[in-house]
Parts: sequence; C-alpha cells; structure tokens
Amino acid sequence: MVAESAERRERLVELYREASECTRCPLAETRTKVVFGSGHADADLMFVGEAPGAEEDRQGLPFVGRAGSLLTDLLEGIGLARDQVWICNVLKCRPPGNRDPQPIEIESCHPYLERQIELIGPRAIGTLGNFATRLITGSRAPISRVRGTPQIHTLAGLPVFVMPLFHPAAALRTPSLLDTLREDFAALPGLVAQPPPLGAAQEAATAAVLAGSVAAEPDADQLDLFG
Ligand code: URA
Repeated sequence: MVAESAERRERLVELYREASECTRCPLAETRTKVVFGSGHADADLMFVGEAPGAEEDRQGLPFVGRAGSLLTDLLEGIGLARDQVWICNVLKCRPPGNRDPQPIEIESCHPYLERQIELIGPRAIGTLGNFATRLITGSRAPISRVRGTPQIHTLAGLPVFVMPLFHPAAALRTPSLLDTLREDFAALPGLVAQPPPLGAAQEAATAAVLAGSVAAEPDADQLDLFG
C-alpha cells in the first residue's frame, strides 16, 4: 500500500536514518557516507544505478560524478529535473576501487531498495546497467539485449513498468551508445503517462494489449533528498 505524501516522506527519512548506520555488509567499514538516494518522495519515475563511486561516497549523494552529469543531461532531454524523480542505487555504499558489487552486498542491501520502491510507489523504474536490471527483473539477460523494451514486474507488492537502460557510464566509455540511451530515455514519459500496470496475474494479457512494445518477464523474486 502506497503511503500518503507526508507519511511517505517521514518513513523515507526513517529509512534513511536506518541506512546511514547500516553495518549489514563489509562495505560499512570502507565507505565514507551511505548514499541512500535523492529526489522526490512522490516521484512517478525512479532510476536505479549500480553503486556509489568516489564522488558519491564523498558527498553522500547518488550520481554526482561524470555519469551523474550525463544522467542530469538525459533527464533534461525529456523535460525532467533531478528533483522530480527518485535516483538511487542497488548498493548504498561504495565498493572499494569501484569494483563490481558482490552477491552478499547486493543481498544485504536489497531490503533498502525494496522499501524505497514500496514507499515511493513509482509508476516506472529505469534500471541503469546490468546490475540494477538483473536485480529488478530477476533475469540474467544482458542489458545489451533487453534495453529499450519496457517490462512489467511486481516489485515490493506493486505492479511497475521497468525500463532497462544502458548505464550512463557505459555511454561515457562508448560514445556510440549515447544515441541509443537518449532514444530509450525518450520512451520514459510515455510509459509514466500510461495507466498504472496491473497486478502479476494480468501481466501477460496487459503486455499483449500494450502492443508488443512492452514485454512481460518472469518476476524476480540525502535530504533536499526528499522533495
Ligand atoms: N554513480 C552512482 O551513484 N551510481 C552508479 O551506478 C554510478 C555512478
């Protein structure tokens, strides 16, 4: 059940406080700051990246490095500001040297992401890169194969459109991906404007109705921060 606005902000702040003291995995020993997430507590659109980098770890805010500048630019390209969406990561703490997230870290951190999805109740989630996409869709399919085709999933008990997207850092490394990333971002406003997706039982039928552009996949199982 999605909470009312004020209550949801209050609960997000509570969750932020809890996460700020988290010691569930060894990253607690090496992080500078927990990077909980930032944006609007009532956002219809949420983005989930991989993990904080050096600058995010220093500031305690997601996507504030070079990949973050590109994310801001991509959002502006679809008429959105960062404070109109929710931005967070699979991991809330930086892996040393920006190494890949480890399974134990992803598992330990997942409850925070689930609670964020439950409290914010976004209509659509853009998953940035392989780690977020695999966690949220429950599929091992590589991002290069699934990007740009929206899916419907039940997440934290809520039916949500999921749009797999290349990670902005990938487009910085391989500039030829940038046009694709912009094209995929361009589909997001239309997705958010659609009626909320239906529950799991109706996913397949709905996917058909949504004219082949939406694929149903098997279910997987800081504080200007909150506008
Ligand atoms: N910054 C983040 O906050 N997340 C990423 O995945 C990359 C950079």
